[in-house]
Amino acid sequence: MNILVINCGSSSLKFQLIDAETEKLTAKGLCERIGIDGSQITFSPAGGEKIVRQVPMPDHKEAIRYVLEALTDEKTGVVKSLDEIGAVGHRIVHGGESFAEATIITPEVKKAIEDCIDLAPLHNPANLIGVDACEALMPGVPMVGVFDTAFHQTMPEEAYLYAIPYRYYEQYKIRRYGFHGTSHDYVSHRAAELLGRPYEDLKIIVCHLGNGASVSAVKNGRCVDTSMGLTPLEGLIMGTRSGDLDPAILEFIANKEGKSIGEIMTVLNKESGVLGLSGGLSSDFRDLENGSEEGARALKAFALRTAKYIGAYAAAMNGVDVICFTAGVGENSVNVRASICKDYLGYLGIGIDDEAAKVRGEEKEISTPDSKVKVLVIPTNEELAIARQTYALVK
Ligand code: ADP
Repeated sequence: MNILVINCGSSSLKFQLIDAETEKLTAKGLCERIGIDGSQITFSPAGGEKIVRQVPMPDHKEAIRYVLEALTDEKTGVVKSLDEIGAVGHRIVHGGESFAEATIITPEVKKAIEDCIDLAPLHNPANLIGVDACEALMPGVPMVGVFDTAFHQTMPEEAYLYAIPYRYYEQYKIRRYGFHGTSHDYVSHRAAELLGRPYEDLKIIVCHLGNGASVSAVKNGRCVDTSMGLTPLEGLIMGTRSGDLDPAILEFIANKEGKSIGEIMTVLNKESGVLGLSGGLSSDFRDLENGSEEGARALKAFALRTAKYIGAYAAAMNGVDVICFTAGVGENSVNVRASICKDYLGYLGIGIDDEAAKVRGEEKEISTPDSKVKVLVIPTNEELAIARQTYALVK
């Protein structure tokens, strides 16, 4: 069965068609600048030439129409008709406390996703638009929601509660939710598979280090803590997000510069992180590795913060068996991984094999055979994880 995986943002839409039985990618692509001048669709059939078309996409429904057209195109398409698509798996960012796993989307589920818009005002509305557009164009095809927050719903309350008046949790559900759950889920399971050990027996720390970055602690098959919070702003230093800081800084900046809370939130989400630390040099880690003082300053702070979370989660789980690196930086940056592991984690008995540690974008054990903790590089594959969860619900 072919599963269409849709990741719908406010002005872009990524898609993949995956054969659920063989888990092979059939085609993938991207619609950009939806609702803006100059919109285009990029379509890449597996093993074929990439096709880029500039077409007007005033809304997401139009974008999905082009996606379906590209998939079924007589010459360059990959399926004969839409009947060959068995289900659609949608990435949904925030499921609040309502969803601890993927679910078939019904009107009630849509209502529950709508109820979480407060918690993810940029993402959930776009995700819902994607669902509506697919429903309109693919009547009768089951839609499945796979939530970024679901994997973290197993956290105990001591991990998800903030130390603020409890009534804020009761009244507004202010708590830690965590994100990138599909990635943490996929990578932690893959780690157990690669090591040939039962998932339920392991203490795993997953470092998802991309433009957005988060760490999770997975103990005996359950996520027990994660670094992102009510929103993706908390935790690690990211491309443009600050991660953890003293909340009093908000008032301080507000007083100094007469900024509103909204304006300061924009600074913390879009102008901070390694971009801010490097004095505006770049949010892209490749640019920071150019030997400049500014880049080095940002990279050092990033490594320290990440190492501190690893230490914290080793404590939270009373030990750690495996540390995994994934996402753009985790999969590719030899230097960042080395600073984290070699500068800070020796006390855990970690040894790094310098030759193996040169790996980029491939599954590899990068620790030495005698290392007390295994260190693995595992490319994440959120789309495959979404396709698997979708298939499990509809087959
Ligand atoms: P997201 O999905 O959060 O946008 P990704 O997981 O795709 O992010 O990661 C993107 C980041 O990965 C880029 O900002 C870039 O800094 C980093 N990256 C990609 N390739 C490399 C590389 N070879 N070396 C260092 N960093 C890299």
